[in-house]
Amino acid sequence: RDKIPHLPEIHVESNLNLLLRRAKENRTVDIEEYVTTGGYSALRKALERLKPEDIVVLVEESTLRGRGGAGFPTARKWRFALMNPEPRYLICNCDESEPGTFKDRIIVERDPHLLLEGMIIAGYALGAKEGYIYIRGEYPAGYLILENAIEEAKSYGFLGENILGTNFSFDIKVYRGAGAYICGEETALIESLEGKRGHPRLRPPYPAQVGIYGKPTVVNNVETLSNIPIIVTYEQYFMNIGPSGFYGPKLFPISGKVEKPGVYEATMDITLRELIDMAGGIKNGKRFKAVFSGALGVYSEKDLDMPMDYSPKGFGGTGTTIVLDEDDCIIDSLLVVANFFHHESCGKCTPCRVGTYEQMNILKKIKEGRGTEKDLEYLKHLSENIPAGSICGLGFSAPQAVSDALRKFPEEFEAHLNRSCKVCFPDSG
Ligand code: NAD
Repeated sequence: RDKIPHLPEIHVESNLNLLLRRAKENRTVDIEEYVTTGGYSALRKALERLKPEDIVVLVEESTLRGRGGAGFPTARKWRFALMNPEPRYLICNCDESEPGTFKDRIIVERDPHLLLEGMIIAGYALGAKEGYIYIRGEYPAGYLILENAIEEAKSYGFLGENILGTNFSFDIKVYRGAGAYICGEETALIESLEGKRGHPRLRPPYPAQVGIYGKPTVVNNVETLSNIPIIVTYEQYFMNIGPSGFYGPKLFPISGKVEKPGVYEATMDITLRELIDMAGGIKNGKRFKAVFSGALGVYSEKDLDMPMDYSPKGFGGTGTTIVLDEDDCIIDSLLVVANFFHHESCGKCTPCRVGTYEQMNILKKIKEGRGTEKDLEYLKHLSENIPAGSICGLGFSAPQAVSDALRKFPEEFEAHLNRSCKVCFPDSG
């Protein structure tokens, strides 16, 4: 514990007190506090009163969807794995690296036992004996906190051999990434865990069929797994939390031009506008311009009343909300995103390796006022062809912000072709 570095000050707010119940203060909740505030009672209930299938059914009824961004139904993923013979493995993806995404770290750094309890129950439901946590290298405190929490859980009999005196045994190991965004892609993560270069594999087969060591593997996000103890505790009452089909709490990391950046817990019927209000509204009373959902979608004023759920018209993804105001330039932000994808492309697929480089250079040219209509055409061409020729989510996502911005903010591009952007050309009159 002495080696754990100082935790960063991150504002946290919730009116639900579920995922963030114990994570309000900037400190790590130890096992004693976790247990005295009801922790590990869901695990006890699961092992003493529920069969593995009962837990899968509860997760199915909860409508829980993957909180890593894709929103895939969690129970469906578990069922795919359960169709394949043991040994099965569970991996917790704690490699959140999407720009502006800092929600999983709050659970890991402040309430690590919530995640561990979720993993142990999931391991029991899946018939797994081993689980791995792959944590990004940039979270050194989280790594040490998890190592410490695992030791605590073992000493209390919640983890290891014959958990709580039953014949269920489960172990968790933590691995650190080395700073590569691509290793958050589940198959690259598995390659990395196996000691190989973090390059994605072609899917299918999905990890639920062929995962780590060629065995069925469920890869779930930190926030997803942290919902499991809540689901087991609440059972049918979980369906009172949030809108139909998207039950349960969701974490929203908000940054940029808001009064109170931080991590907010809310139900998914909250709209983008309400979420920004929850974060204190736009900083210094300025005008709203746009939201970047990490490095993916770009949203304009017209989108402010969309729900933050996983429906086709919802915000979806990780819930990451980066707010831009009237003083920000969209092209400037797109260039940051383009630099990011170029830097993080693993290089395996040529359209992604070359396309992200081209995208970055064209945007630089446009930002500097040297762009032409032909460059806009080329950007559109790249938007279609980078995803078409790539095998993983990085290639699918790389041009998404640009194609959204081309549709929603054509005037921002125009203002660079004619050098009238007030941010980039302040002398333009
Ligand atoms: P995906 O929709 O292809 O898959 C989602 C999950 O469902 C995966 O675990 C996959 O294995 C499983 N799945 C899908 N179809 C299946 C099937 N038929 N059988 C078994 N399992 C199946 O999405 P993805 O490519 O894994 O992830 C993309 C998402 O990741 C993006 O939406 C993005 O928001 C998110 N992302 C998040 C971060 C972050 O920092 N949290 C970083 C990068 C990307």
